[in-house]
Amino acid sequence: METVAPFKEALDEIKENGAVNFKYCYQCGKCDTLCPWNKVRTFSMRKLIREATFGLTEIENEEIWRCTTCGKCPQQCPRDVKQIQSMVALRRFATGYGVFPEAVKPIRTVSGNLASDGNPFGEDRAKRAEWAEGLPVKPFTEDMEIMYFPGCYLSYDRRLKKVAQATAKILTKAGVSFGILGAKEVCCGESIRKTGNEELFKRMAKENIKTWIEHGVKKILVSSPHCYETFKNEYPAEFRVNFEIVHIAEYLFQLINEGRLQISKEYAKKITYHDPCYLGRHNGIFDQPREVLKKIPGLELNEMAESRQDSLCCGGGGGRIWVETPKSERFSNLRLEQALEAGAEELVTACPYCISNFEDSRLVMNYDDAIQIKDITEIIEEVI
Ligand code: SF4
Repeated sequence: METVAPFKEALDEIKENGAVNFKYCYQCGKCDTLCPWNKVRTFSMRKLIREATFGLTEIENEEIWRCTTCGKCPQQCPRDVKQIQSMVALRRFATGYGVFPEAVKPIRTVSGNLASDGNPFGEDRAKRAEWAEGLPVKPFTEDMEIMYFPGCYLSYDRRLKKVAQATAKILTKAGVSFGILGAKEVCCGESIRKTGNEELFKRMAKENIKTWIEHGVKKILVSSPHCYETFKNEYPAEFRVNFEIVHIAEYLFQLINEGRLQISKEYAKKITYHDPCYLGRHNGIFDQPREVLKKIPGLELNEMAESRQDSLCCGGGGGRIWVETPKSERFSNLRLEQALEAGAEELVTACPYCISNFEDSRLVMNYDDAIQIKDITEIIEEVI
């Protein structure tokens, strides 16, 4: 096909520029053993890396879109091949040529929505703060302690608005002076960057950073590990130094330890905690959410088969949240089984993508009565 030759040149270019390490791979296959795809179908990162090294990967190859960037294989790769950066680099060229295999075509709509409305859903920008109606949530001003950035899912999704509301209630109860930027906020850009659309990511980043500077923002509280990762590790370094980024799971831990938030009620349930990839594996936040949950009287916390750095991805990272994954291939279905095996009545986490995928699985698997899905804030809201 016409597109193959320039793609080979692209592969040569990314091999040469040192950003990725294809050529270090010695084909040990450790990545394939660890990859969650091989629990639901066959997929070979090892093979993709080999093909990329020899310029054999075709731009139309659907496999380059499969990686959820969960971080399991780079953690164990003996040759530091940088699988995530490699896959994103391949997607960058495919996106540049406008080549999207059938399965990932929804990404084009998401890109269009982000460009025109600042959110992936194509929702009205002006309605971004509607979740806060009826709550004592104010527009952010410079004298406030914290700017709360709920992100797209918590601003627009019916299920996830409850998480933004729970967060606002907790902050109010703890006496935290906080505000939101509402319609002035746009998507953090993390997921679209992982699909290779670097240009759109830069636009989102620029718009957010400009707004933060104009409003005198210093400390940003986020609910999504994807916003956390992007603001903390991926926005340009010269701007990142100006903003302190905090995820709600670590902030809850801090508020409780400082005595600003008191747990006053029991929660007599068996729960298990799911580590979101971008909170746990990518950013090392494993203990704080567990410590918060352990402080709740009556609550029994059980660990699942794969937890902490070995956590099983929900399937939503790397832009996969915008792609329809066949029911039989959803990692989130497996995670629900693991939660039940751990004896949990509730599966608790701290990420909108995870919640969205788990809620879908619960529906698909007819587990309505078997298990509930909760964000950590929804539990804290009930016990303070
Ligand atoms: Fe190559 Fe690393 Fe995978 Fe081994 S784990 S096959 S070195 S990419």
